[in-house]
Amino acid sequence: MSRGNENTQEPSIHPVVFLGAGPGDPELITLKGRRLLDQADLIIYAGSLVNTALLEGVGGRCHDSAGMDLEAIITLVLKGYRQGLKVVRLHTGDPAIYGAIREQMQWLDREGVDYEVVPGVSSAFATAATLKRELTVPEVTQTVILTRQAGRTPVPERESLTRLAAIQATMCIFLSVSMMDQVVADLTAGGYSEETPVAVVEKASWPEERVLRGTLKTISAQIGSSKIRKTAMIIVGPALDDASTIASKLYDTSFKHEYR
Ligand code: SAH
Repeated sequence: MSRGNENTQEPSIHPVVFLGAGPGDPELITLKGRRLLDQADLIIYAGSLVNTALLEGVGGRCHDSAGMDLEAIITLVLKGYRQGLKVVRLHTGDPAIYGAIREQMQWLDREGVDYEVVPGVSSAFATAATLKRELTVPEVTQTVILTRQAGRTPVPERESLTRLAAIQATMCIFLSVSMMDQVVADLTAGGYSEETPVAVVEKASWPEERVLRGTLKTISAQIGSSKIRKTAMIIVGPALDDASTIASKLYDTSFKHEYR
């Protein structure tokens, strides 16, 4: 609903949109996201990871936030919002995962600014799609952990990779490929065997996507020779092992249909 009024020249107010751009492929954005981008007056995008092909043909002004700090981003957002512009803050994948949107939303809360969040396809799921693997396999694991190796951003000790590895679930490890040796050391210390399957996908869903498949024993050397250093997802766990032939009961003839 527009609160604008032509007589008083008061601009109409549009909620700021935090939008998930998806993992890279410009077709992997939601229909709602595509519409909001097309209608936006001002788009502030995380240039290091968002595929700029998404911005081709848009009418709004586009700003790369790569060189901007939080204050500069918020200043730009507030200015646009108060001018009545449709402002989109475009984040890679899904904004709820390592999107750093919390501090932006809290700042907007303090300013009394209205906003909404529109989800996107996380790179974790784009990577699973590339690998053609289901991350939850009956009787193997029914749990997916989205996590990262501690880096400049610390990770609480109770959820270190070593601790999480003890669960033997499927793990999607973000932001960590440059520390692969440490990832492998921590996972093995935590109880994953050296034979545990692991895959690394660089730039999943982009044209230049690269895939490495190996085990915890081989993957460090594979990463070393591939020179993959960033924008890569590590997925590890027994669910990647195609040898398991256990099928889900969901489509078993004896399973009640209402759960399908
Ligand atoms: N919100 C994003 C994650 C941002 S953190 C999401 O939901 O995907 C940035 C990290 O995400 C990168 O270091 C990398 O681990 C991962 N990443 C982002 N895009 C990727 C892609 N296309 N392929 C593989 N990993 C990707």
